[in-house]
Amino acid sequence: MPDCIFCKIIEGELPSEKIYETEEVYCFLDANPLGKGHTLCIPKKHHQNVFEMDADLAAKLIKASKKVAQMQKDNLGADGVDFLQYNGRAGGQEVMHYHMHILPRFEEDSVDAWPETAYKKESLEATAKKLRSG
Ligand code: 5GP
Ligand code: ZN
Repeated sequence: MPDCIFCKIIEGELPSEKIYETEEVYCFLDANPLGKGHTLCIPKKHHQNVFEMDADLAAKLIKASKKVAQMQKDNLGADGVDFLQYNGRAGGQEVMHYHMHILPRFEEDSVDAWPETAYKKESLEATAKKLRSG
């Protein structure tokens, strides 16, 4: 899809920090993380939201999201993980290519706000290295 930044990431036209991938799914660090290790899982083919994909692909995205959540727990020491996914702009979707946010939560995070933790002191590259290191 022309002008879609996530399609450009899949095509390698824009850089990204890969965390995990399968034949149909790609998971990479969010460029503006809300917490250390904040990851996005997307389908390699352009689909705007759940309404535009079949149930099999939706299941594959959840499977990859679970894998990343486990990596966040095992390799970053997350105490919990939030899944967040919008379907259309009314819900807050800004990039119109399906993406599941996988946001690790740490003991020191507040539960009622997006966390502001030590991730800012670390480069995306360093976080990605830790996250992949299982
Ligand atoms: P949403 O559409 O769910 O509101 O958020 C889109 C997410 O994509 C944001 O968290 C934003 O930081 C992330 N994002 C936007 N552009 C890029 C990019 O070029 N690279 C990466 N890695 N993340 C991006
Ligand atoms: Zn796209």
